Amino acid sequence: MEWDCWGLECPNECNIAGMEESKKLSLNFIEEIIEQDLAEKTGWKVHTRFPPEPNGYLHIGHAKSICLNFGIAEKYGGLTNLRFDDTNPTTEETEYVESIKKDIRWLGFDWEGREFYASDYFEILYEYAQKLIRKRLAYVDDSTSDEIAEQKGSPTSSGIESPYRNRSVEENLDLFSRMRAGEFEDGSKVLRAKIDMASPNMHLRDPVMYRIKKESHHRTGDAWCIYPMYDFAHGQSDSIEEITYSLCTLEFENHRPLYDWYIEALDIFPSRQIEFARLNVSHMVTSKRKLLQLVEGGHVKGWDDPRMPTIAGLRRRGYTPASIRTFCDKVGIAKRENLIEMALLEFCVREDLNQTASRAMAVLDPVKVIIENIDPEHVEWLKAENNPEDPDAGSREVPFSREIFIERSDWMLDPPKKYFRLGPDRTVRLKHAYIIHCHDHKLNANGNVSEIRCTYYPDSKSGSDTSGIKAKGTLHWVSTSHARSVEVRHYHTLFTEPEPTRDEDKDFLEFLNPDSLTVIPSAVAEPALAAAPVGSRFQFLRKGYYIKDQDSTDDCPVFNLIVELRDSWKGKK
Ligand code: ATP
Ligand code: MG
Repeated sequence: MEWDCWGLECPNECNIAGMEESKKLSLNFIEEIIEQDLAEKTGWKVHTRFPPEPNGYLHIGHAKSICLNFGIAEKYGGLTNLRFDDTNPTTEETEYVESIKKDIRWLGFDWEGREFYASDYFEILYEYAQKLIRKRLAYVDDSTSDEIAEQKGSPTSSGIESPYRNRSVEENLDLFSRMRAGEFEDGSKVLRAKIDMASPNMHLRDPVMYRIKKESHHRTGDAWCIYPMYDFAHGQSDSIEEITYSLCTLEFENHRPLYDWYIEALDIFPSRQIEFARLNVSHMVTSKRKLLQLVEGGHVKGWDDPRMPTIAGLRRRGYTPASIRTFCDKVGIAKRENLIEMALLEFCVREDLNQTASRAMAVLDPVKVIIENIDPEHVEWLKAENNPEDPDAGSREVPFSREIFIERSDWMLDPPKKYFRLGPDRTVRLKHAYIIHCHDHKLNANGNVSEIRCTYYPDSKSGSDTSGIKAKGTLHWVSTSHARSVEVRHYHTLFTEPEPTRDEDKDFLEFLNPDSLTVIPSAVAEPALAAAPVGSRFQFLRKGYYIKDQDSTDDCPVFNLIVELRDSWKGKK
């Protein structure tokens, strides 16, 4: 990877890059299952689905699931459906449906019109429930939710049967249809599967299939007042769509026997559930409920706050779809929960942007340099390549004149040995321009440099240097009379702890980083940056990658830090 510090010490060894080489070429365990099925079953098709519940914005964990489901189907010539798991009218909203679709498209995946909703299946699910009643495998229970919880027992003791368990088929069918008709109050009755109250698997102890909820649904309106539970809707929706591989996260492993029980009892398409480990990324929370808490509590500026691990936040932060897909690929598929370092995600972003982002010069903490042997009226437009990694990226012209800004930190009164920047009687090259020599400076009352005086060597122009002068360091700079003032927003981790939700006794909000946002209101940049459209990404030379934010106005362009140039995690641990 390119290192843009020109002569400064480079601590970035990028050992993460080694992971690329060492990445196993072997199949992951899901691919192994699929390849075996394809070898054994004639006409077998890979058909997956991504099943979000529309109760929040998608986050980086969902990106993993999206890449897995769409990626595997793509690899084996199969299909992927988008299915909204919208069985809970309380928390679901159309706004979320739209944001989810936008995010999946942005990540680069296409469900080709196969957009389904569990709520479209409410009628079929109702018929399935009647079928189970007729088979004496489901019953209407008048027990309260507390009584049901009591009946269930505990993992170490067996449960007890409900007094309503042996109602007749006729009575159950009648009560269930009256539940649907709205004759009973919320919570007064449920439909339960009749399985085994002594099962060691708690999910098989007569799980609830339907509950009464007299609430409007974002799609079905007031057509229903009974809603299926997740476990009764999810698997059946998979079967209806003839999904061959229902990939889900590990917490559903214990639900699999119930998933299979329904398939067998209803004699429907045998979708196969396979579990994989959730993606957890350090310093990020990946729970929609907690993300909602951050938004509603005003701890961030919205779902798309650039500090949020939502897809919308990562997009606004400037992460690219390609870098997120690469990250998900590098993380791989695991069977056990683990924590992935945020540094890996940043590495993927940096690698992608190094290839694609135009270079530009911006000075975040400016100090003025006067080049005394340049005429005050003189302006020279110098050719600057846009991206040394991309020969097709072309070049632009940057104005050079008598007064320029450089970074305050690029000048030191009494520098240490390996400091190759500017100081009294020192020489540096200005990127794309000339070599300058410092012969004078002014300090302010605090002892900080307030003005630097230099001379330049006219025959040292970049690309046609005949001066023979050696300059070890190269600095970025901006011509003062052409400089545009810009606001720069620097983001740091939203949490101070790698695993803010690890300790269940503690409120994760306690670990919010009070310094997660630093605003630099008056940085200066070369003029091209002000004219760039919102969403343009740049590498500010020697600083990092930045994206022009939607908050920009003509007077004040705003740039978000996407990621620093070097791995800032090194040495932090
Ligand atoms: P949350 O805990 O954020 O509410 P969820 O699992 O309830 O997540 P869903 O909308 O039901 O959210 O998720 C859609 C799909 O994305 C599911 O298949 C789920 O297993 C998967 N998924 C959710 N979070 C992760 C994660 N961290 N890593 C991998 N897959 C995930
Ligand atoms: Mg879920």
